[in-house]
Amino acid sequence: MKKSMFGALTLVVVLLSFALVSNVALALKNVCPNCNKMIDNQELNACPFCGKIINKCLICGYVNPIKNDNCASCSANLAESRVSRTIDKETRTDLKLGESPLAQIAVELAQIDHKVVVTGLTPELAARQVELLSKMGWWSLVNTVAMHFATQYPNSDQNTKVAASRVIALRNLAFLALSDKNNNTARDYINTALSIDPKDKECLNLQKVIGEAEKAAGGAVKVTSDTPNVGSGAE
Ligand SMILES: [Zn+2]
Ligand SMILES: [Zn+2]
Repeated sequence: MKKSMFGALTLVVVLLSFALVSNVALALKNVCPNCNKMIDNQELNACPFCGKIINKCLICGYVNPIKNDNCASCSANLAESRVSRTIDKETRTDLKLGESPLAQIAVELAQIDHKVVVTGLTPELAARQVELLSKMGWWSLVNTVAMHFATQYPNSDQNTKVAASRVIALRNLAFLALSDKNNNTARDYINTALSIDPKDKECLNLQKVIGEAEKAAGGAVKVTSDTPNVGSGAE
């Protein structure tokens, strides 16, 4: 249907712009999407003129006062819910709004961001952040967050898991750098990865490939510690 196609496109554009400029949502908050009247009292849950519920969370269903930017129940960002709820239900169902794995991850990442603002960062939140960022393939962020994790929570029981995610991230970053012919950068990433897990097979393979690329490029950087400790099982 042409109309719902247009609705879908508008929705995507609107959602994208909201993701980029979430402050715009503040401007929308006090205008009823049903009767278009200004609502002055932001403590209300519904429009005083037409009864339309304004700030219902589409993630958990909680009805929030108009003033809230994040759901009081699940921390989800409410700007997207407000926009989505102005689109008719049929179109929303057609689009399966918010049900794609990426959309769900984005929602959870935003929830974590908000929880961090409210209660501060915990090892559990940070570890989950690393896990979600890995699912998104945002390797540079995974690397940064996981690196901070190791220094902030050296005794956390999540450390092994976070470190494993960081190795995967560094390996991907090394591979991307190598693809861009940035051999030195690739070498830095893979060396860092191997300093965390010296036995990671895929890292060791990539290290060889990087070595070959360096040779091929002529200006091989002098490697000082390239004799692995064969046979030493202890760390
Ligand atoms: Zn209204
Ligand atoms: Zn909620």
